[in-house]
Amino acid sequence: MKEIILIKNGEIALKGLNRSVFEDALQKALRHRLSKAGRFKIRRAQSTMFVEPQDDGCDMDLAAEAVGKVFGIVAYSRAAVCEKDMDVICTTAVDYLADQLRSAKTFKVVAKRSDKSFPLGSPEISAELGGYILSKFPHLKVDVHDPEVTVAAEIRDFAAYVRAGQLKGAGGIPVGTGGKAAILISGGIDSPVAAWMMAKRGMQLTAIHFASPPYTGPQAEAKVRDLLKKVSEYSGEIRFCIVPFTRIQEAIADNCQEEYFTIIMRRFMMRISERIARRNKCSALITGESLGQVASQTVGGLVCTDAVCNMPVFRPLIGMDKEEIIVRSREIGTFDISILPYEDCCTVFTPKHPRTKPLLDKVEAAEAALDIEALVEEAAENALFESI
Ligand code: ATP
Ligand code: MG
Repeated sequence: MKEIILIKNGEIALKGLNRSVFEDALQKALRHRLSKAGRFKIRRAQSTMFVEPQDDGCDMDLAAEAVGKVFGIVAYSRAAVCEKDMDVICTTAVDYLADQLRSAKTFKVVAKRSDKSFPLGSPEISAELGGYILSKFPHLKVDVHDPEVTVAAEIRDFAAYVRAGQLKGAGGIPVGTGGKAAILISGGIDSPVAAWMMAKRGMQLTAIHFASPPYTGPQAEAKVRDLLKKVSEYSGEIRFCIVPFTRIQEAIADNCQEEYFTIIMRRFMMRISERIARRNKCSALITGESLGQVASQTVGGLVCTDAVCNMPVFRPLIGMDKEEIIVRSREIGTFDISILPYEDCCTVFTPKHPRTKPLLDKVEAAEAALDIEALVEEAAENALFESI
């Protein structure tokens, strides 16, 4: 029996003239993500996308899992393809949905006929298919209001399709349609979630990670790489950039007042990230900050970090509680990696008593001893890139 995946795309349908741009981006993302599951053809018709396996080597479970992680898809379903003949439709439905029908108590049939040359109308198709299902599974009852299984039969131009209910897609809009941004990624719980949230709004990601060897080890970098791999299951390819940060942290520790260490360090991260972002055609920065979570994430702290940025800084977690962020990180599969115990550069040189209400002029005075431009340029110059 031939199986395909039917996709309903969400907000895309609302985008008017831009619709084809969105559909092209969605199709590109789908093609890229499906490549690991085999050879597929993607066809569009009547606000539906058809994902059709091209040979027996296609892994439909893997394909369905991949489709479920592509932004821009509200709902999708797996369906059996068959001839446009009522007898064949009936036997295909009973065969294909046998397990679900056997274990359910109630069902209903919905039929859709977009091929108007098909001799039966939708009500007749429903009645005939429903009757056939009841004859094969006599324990079932029809419940049109709240059925356990909804059997859908669609008669379209090329073929008939039989399926059970729809699966929920990842939502959002296709990656690439929302511009490019650089996410400052640590090995923590928050920044991978922030990356995922902005990819969901269509942003293509470059990820920037600050590493301070020998204070931070190769395992910390490997952990970030693993986190990004998880995020890339949704976002598609991510450009990953590791920035050497040791000299800057040592310079701060040697020359600045301890209570301002963290905020000065964060200002350096933002300056360097903005420079790398510009050079890589990104027009915004993303961080995993959440208001009040730590001393550098108070309003006063954010004022001090934003003061060195000329790009918009997106902080999608700003109003979320830690618990809410954790729920999301479990859903997207990053949580278990995030809680591995490797040191991040933020945890070296942490002041005992950081300022929770840093004043911008005080922070600027505290970092005045440093040659900021030289340090920023050196770090940006020495950044190493790879592809995830
Ligand atoms: P996270 O869980 O994302 O590490 P956090 O709550 O630990 O966040 P901080 O350590 O204060 O918060 O970092 C705030 C934000 O700064 C992070 O969400 C991330 O965007 C960025 N950041 C922190 N450390 C690094 C790093 N080593 N490299 C790149 N960005 C970083
Ligand atoms: Mg952190």
